[in-house]
Amino acid sequence: MYSPELRKLMGEKGIEVWDRVRVEAEQGAFEGIVMPRIEYGDPDTLILKLKNGYNVGIKREKIREMELLEKGERKGEEEEERGEGDVVIISTGGTIASRVDYRTGGVYASFSSSYLLERIPEIRELTSIRTKKLFSIMSEDMLPENWREIAREVYENREARGVVITHGTDTMHFTAAALSFLLPKLSLPVALTGAQRSPDRPSSDAFLNLLCSVRYALSDAGEVAVVMHGESSDTFCYAIRGTHVRKMHTSRRDAFKPINDRPLMKIWPDRIEKVGEYRKRAEETVLDDKMEERVGLLHVYPGADPRILEFFSDYRGLVIAGTGLGHVPTQNKKSWIPGIKSLVERGVFVAVTSQTLYGSVHPYVYHNLRVLNESGAVHVRMTPETAYVKLMWVLGHEKRYEKVKELMLTDLVGELSREDYLTYGVGV
Ligand code: ASP
Repeated sequence: MYSPELRKLMGEKGIEVWDRVRVEAEQGAFEGIVMPRIEYGDPDTLILKLKNGYNVGIKREKIREMELLEKGERKGEEEEERGEGDVVIISTGGTIASRVDYRTGGVYASFSSSYLLERIPEIRELTSIRTKKLFSIMSEDMLPENWREIAREVYENREARGVVITHGTDTMHFTAAALSFLLPKLSLPVALTGAQRSPDRPSSDAFLNLLCSVRYALSDAGEVAVVMHGESSDTFCYAIRGTHVRKMHTSRRDAFKPINDRPLMKIWPDRIEKVGEYRKRAEETVLDDKMEERVGLLHVYPGADPRILEFFSDYRGLVIAGTGLGHVPTQNKKSWIPGIKSLVERGVFVAVTSQTLYGSVHPYVYHNLRVLNESGAVHVRMTPETAYVKLMWVLGHEKRYEKVKELMLTDLVGELSREDYLTYGVGV
């Protein structure tokens, strides 16, 4: 999707993607078709396909005038809502909803779930499906307000047997953690799934992922889980708890791993094998979507300038992904301790996690950890991403330091790492 400013400029002239337009820019005038933004393209650069087949990119600030010449056909885009069914598939964008445009080589998020469903007849044998398109965004562009919209959409569909959300994979673990807190009780299973290769490629993982997700949506679970390939071939998927899942590889099909947890289930195209413990469908679904968005997430590294902390002084919370057992620079000339103390004094709740991801933080093992603890920071046993989302949710409900601390240390939806679950690698 283009930037809000560029979309505003287009909107004023009634211009949408695929329309034929004339653009007057600093570098000259161009006539062509407005192309969707390419996957890794600058959101502030308009892409026009010219008559000669070449694309030009025009920066928004260089555009002087835009004129609509002809409305285009929006081919391949999904209707907003389709069908009647027991399982609802909500699409939000990402590679699973994308196809390669062979004219441009770009990958665009506009494909429909009906295209996918037509190619997985096994799903029709399992259940009836209703599809709903919520957004067409790549997950790097997801915002906390989008998490809330997705949670509300699930809530509105709580009478369904289950919900599957198709989503970009890059930040799927943030959305999974967010939904786990925003929907603390679920009377239906919620699966999040995506694809590492777009569905128009023969090697796409989208089909197995969607089939397994629908199986999860029909199960007895009352939890949010990411359901993706368990190994690189098309054999089975894992359903992994939303607060313990993480994308651990840029391109492998089995990129999602459980961190300090067992997978909930191993899902084969024709059966489910239960692996870990999970919450069963609750009597009712609860939506509790208050979140404080002034929360940051910061990575520690040798030489990191403690002045970075000052930026967060008007925030309500900060999660630090510390080193090892949960350290920050403590004894050297760039110590973070004074900066953390002053944030805490200003009322910013500082939580510390570990950037090793696997294993647990241990606030008292070393003297330096005790110094950090005395500064008012609190070590929490979660992935940095889950701690970030949880702190937003907790601060949306509670402002008092002691209460926030108590909630951050309490297992609300199965998010805390358990000693007996400190798995490493595949997690089974
Ligand atoms: N960048 C994409 C996204 O997260 C990648 C994907 O969908 O797999 O939306």
